[in-house]
Amino acid sequence: MIDLRSDTLTRPTEAMRAAMARAEVGDDVYGEDPTVARLEERVAGLFGHEAALFTPTGSMANVLAVRSVVGVGQEVLCEASAHIARAELGAHAAYTGLTMRTWIHPRGQVDLPTIQTIFAPDMGPFFVPTAAISVENTHNFAGGAVLPLQDLRDLREYATGAGVRVHMDGARVWNAHVATGVPLAEYGAVADVLAVCLSKGLGAPIGSLMVGSADAIAEARIWRKRMGGGMRQVGILAAAGLHALDHHVERLADDHAHARLLAEACGVDPATVDTNIVVVRRDDATSFVAAAREAGVVVATVGPTAVRLVTHLDVTRDDVEKAAAVLARL
Ligand SMILES: *Cc1c(COP(=O)(O)O)cnc(C)c1O
Repeated sequence: MIDLRSDTLTRPTEAMRAAMARAEVGDDVYGEDPTVARLEERVAGLFGHEAALFTPTGSMANVLAVRSVVGVGQEVLCEASAHIARAELGAHAAYTGLTMRTWIHPRGQVDLPTIQTIFAPDMGPFFVPTAAISVENTHNFAGGAVLPLQDLRDLREYATGAGVRVHMDGARVWNAHVATGVPLAEYGAVADVLAVCLSKGLGAPIGSLMVGSADAIAEARIWRKRMGGGMRQVGILAAAGLHALDHHVERLADDHAHARLLAEACGVDPATVDTNIVVVRRDDATSFVAAAREAGVVVATVGPTAVRLVTHLDVTRDDVEKAAAVLARL
């Protein structure tokens, strides 16, 4: 079976397992795991921020990151199909007590004129004040779309002027970096706080980080423990992340090339394939998925008429060529 459902499906390589086995560890709740500390410092540095916090999941990193800039009874603005709005089971409402308002963009892009229209200043005890604007780069449900750096800079400038903060869900910001050549620090510079994943294209079995100011991270450390996310000899997992940063970032270019090959085979406009995700529009999405599985290619629907193909570390060029032939025939 060639599995194109998600880039979360990767299994740690032999070299990654060896790095995990060798990891120096300590009790991270006591702040004594040197491998976790190394990972947190390194990722903070990559994005040009003061500090970072290792979390088990990207959803937890997002909840901690958003709650560092949005309080109880305040709102965050985001695109309507953002992961924080659609795929975190209402965690931001359940834990933080915030509300969301959304703009719609088919490619998940920053739509500044609309954001300016829905933005609500603090007007005292009358309206929900906007505390932050959240962007997702790359945008998962928009098919791995990259947000152009200039749009992010314009948003940041507007947000700063309006007195609100910017959160970036950068679960796949590595893909944006490799696709565009924009340094990670440039993405870091347009956000007050970020969440980044090691368990997507980077191929670690688990792990994400919140990235931000030292104060925000210190407070998030408390909230992580409160949520049950204090972890002990977790350097064994941080080591997988460090290995991924050393070996699995630049190779994302292969995943992007593979995605373009699949797009071509499926007659998808290559202009809609920025990174490692291809969305194929099919009225018969469910039966298409079943027929593909029958032929040895596992794909998934992301809506009644949309099929998603995701390339990743465990899909070779040979696999992609085989999958492309099967999907083209279907
Ligand atoms: C996967 C993902 C996350 C985090 O997901 P977890 O499954 O909680 O690790 C966050 N944002 C985006 C855009 C994602 O694709």
